[in-house]
Amino acid sequence: MKRHINIIITAVASLLIVTLAGREFIKNHKKESNDKSSTNVSENTCEDIPDTSISDTSISDTCVADMNTSDTSTSETEILKQTYENNKEQFYISEIPDDIFEKMQGKSYKADCTLPRENLRYIHVLHVGFDNQVHEGELVVNKDIADDVLEIFKELYESGYQIEKVRLVDEYDADDEASMSDNNSSAFNFRFISHTTKISKHGMGMAVDINTLYNPYVKTVDGELSIEPANGADYVDRSKDFSHKIDHDDLCYKLFTEHGFEWGGDWTHSKDYQHFEK
Ligand SMILES: [Zn+2]
Repeated sequence: MKRHINIIITAVASLLIVTLAGREFIKNHKKESNDKSSTNVSENTCEDIPDTSISDTSISDTCVADMNTSDTSTSETEILKQTYENNKEQFYISEIPDDIFEKMQGKSYKADCTLPRENLRYIHVLHVGFDNQVHEGELVVNKDIADDVLEIFKELYESGYQIEKVRLVDEYDADDEASMSDNNSSAFNFRFISHTTKISKHGMGMAVDINTLYNPYVKTVDGELSIEPANGADYVDRSKDFSHKIDHDDLCYKLFTEHGFEWGGDWTHSKDYQHFEK
């Protein structure tokens, strides 16, 4: 009996500690958000608590929160869940805003683009970077997969899955190689499949590439191995162990396939380890 009481006391004490820590976190977060609501977060200044304000300048390097606030990965996941609850409004889908559409012109939305703007959606997310801090991310996808992609990014975020950059490919002048070699994760980029009039899955906004440098696109062209991005050669051998590798055990693979996507790593004639399409 006494042992049972001890166990109960320990359990209650643990619960209390977790609850108090959570409350403190939320309190700090709210206070900080209020303090900073009218100011922009400068580049490379990372706060240890989330900031809900969105500046209208480039969001690329804005650190929203530092995840190094706890000792164990379990409590980090708890904190991420709490920050998700407090930052739900940071995960949203909208029609393509005018300023974004402007930015896409002649880049991802080329002059010959046959896909109407109404078929595309802008997605805003938070993601945990390689620096273990929370960053804002932006994607443009087909409206048909917008809900799936938002849900997947929400789950990746809550699990603390690291994605280095989620920027619009327009920031790289829609140059895929430049975006991939910078390990950028992105989706829509209008183009036809080489030597055809068929629009590629990215051109339809129906494909998403994740951690592109570590998960290159590998194919054999005229007997020679082609690697995209070219600086991804170290990550072609998938039997090697390295961080950010997408394989069948990876959470990204699991979530995308659960949502009905096909993984390019399962293709036979080429391997596109970064690529998920519907
Ligand atoms: Zn792709």
